[in-house]
Amino acid sequence: MGLKTLEKITAALTSRPAELEQLRKQGKKIVGWLAYNIPEEIIYALGLIPIRVGQGGDGRLVEVGARHISTKNCVFVRQVLGQFAEKTDPYIKQLDLVAIDATCIQLYRLEELINFYFDYKTVVLGVPRNFATKEGHEYFRKEVEHFTKKLELFAGVSLEQSKLQEAINIYDGIREAIKTLYSYQSKDNAPLSWRDVSAVINAGYNLDRLRYLELLQELIKEVEEKTSEPQENQAIEARVFLSGSLIPPGDTKLIDIIEQLGGRIVGDDLWSGLNFFLNLEIKEPTPFGVADAYLDRIPHASLPYLDLPTDGRLANLKHQIQQFNADGVIYHTLRYCDAFTFKAGETKDVLKNVPFLEIHTEYSGSDFEAIRTRVEAFVEMIKNKKEIAELV
Ligand code: SF4
Repeated sequence: MGLKTLEKITAALTSRPAELEQLRKQGKKIVGWLAYNIPEEIIYALGLIPIRVGQGGDGRLVEVGARHISTKNCVFVRQVLGQFAEKTDPYIKQLDLVAIDATCIQLYRLEELINFYFDYKTVVLGVPRNFATKEGHEYFRKEVEHFTKKLELFAGVSLEQSKLQEAINIYDGIREAIKTLYSYQSKDNAPLSWRDVSAVINAGYNLDRLRYLELLQELIKEVEEKTSEPQENQAIEARVFLSGSLIPPGDTKLIDIIEQLGGRIVGDDLWSGLNFFLNLEIKEPTPFGVADAYLDRIPHASLPYLDLPTDGRLANLKHQIQQFNADGVIYHTLRYCDAFTFKAGETKDVLKNVPFLEIHTEYSGSDFEAIRTRVEAFVEMIKNKKEIAELV
C-alpha cells in the first residue's frame, strides 16, 4: 500500500517481544487479557502492561488445545488453549497474569484450564447475563471493583484517579482514531484497506498504548494526505460487510477468499473489529465509572437478549451497514460458537432485504473450496444487481 506508518507499525510489532523481555527484567508485569469486557484502562493505570492474547486460523494448534478441552468448544477457544499448552507464542510465554471476562462462557472455561493445566495466575471478571437490568448494573459494578482490588494486590499499588484519567484519555484517543481509520478505508480510492485497518487493530493490542496512539495519529495524517478524489466511472464492486464470530489475527481464510473473488470488505461489527471501539464513554475515572461505560456499550451476542426491536447489537449492525454503504452481509460463524450461530436467523430476519450469506467454518482448510464457491456466487449476485440498477 506504500503507507510508511504501516511499515513503522509492523516494525514496532516485530521488536515488541524483545522490548517486553527488557521491561520484565526491569520489574514490569505483563497482563494478558481476553474478550469483550475487560477494562484495559484499569490494567494500564496500575502500571501493568496489557496484551490481548489469542490467535486463530491454525488447525494444528486447535488439535493441541483439544487434548485439554472438549471438541464441542469453539475452535478459537481450542486454539488459544493450544497456544497456552505450547507456550511458543512470544507474548503468551511472557505473561505474569491472565485476565479473562465471562462474557462468553467458553472463555470462562478457558481460564479454568490455563490455570489448572498450565499454572498461569488468572483473574476472572464476572459479567451479568442481562446488562439491561438494575441488578445487572449493580453486579457488574461490584465485579469491576473486585477485579480492580485483585489487580492492585498483584501490581502492589493502589489505583489513582489521575492515573486512571490519563489511561482513559489514551484509550479514548485510540477509539477515536480507529473510528476515523474505518471511515477512510471505506471510501473509494482509499489508500488503505479494511485488511490494513484490521492488522493495525491487532498490532495495537500488543504495542505500548501511548506509542500506539502516536502511530495512529501519524497514520491518519498520512492517509488524509494520500486520499484522492474518487474517479468517475469506477468499476462496479461488491461492498461486503462482515458480521458474526470474531476474526482473530491469523485467521485470514474468509478475508482471502472475499478479496480473491473481487469483493471488497468495507466494514464489520465484529468484537475483534470495530464494535470494540464504539460507544464507550467513561464519564468518571473510578471503577464504577468504568463499569457503567462498559455496560452501556454495544452488547456482545453471547448475552441473551430477546426483544429484537430494542436489541443494541442489531441496531448497531443496521447502522453500520448504512454508514459503510455495504451491499451485503457475510455472517461468519465458527464451529461450536453457539452465541453467534444461534443469532444468525434473527439477524437475517431483521436485515430483511439486505443480501445475506451465512458461512459456518473452522480453522482447517478443508472447507476452503466450498466457501469459495458460495462467496463467489454471492459477490457475483451483488455485482449483477448493481449493474442492473445502473442500467435502469
Ligand atoms: S463468542 Fe463464539 S467465537 Fe467467541 S469465544 Fe465465545 S464461542 Fe468462541
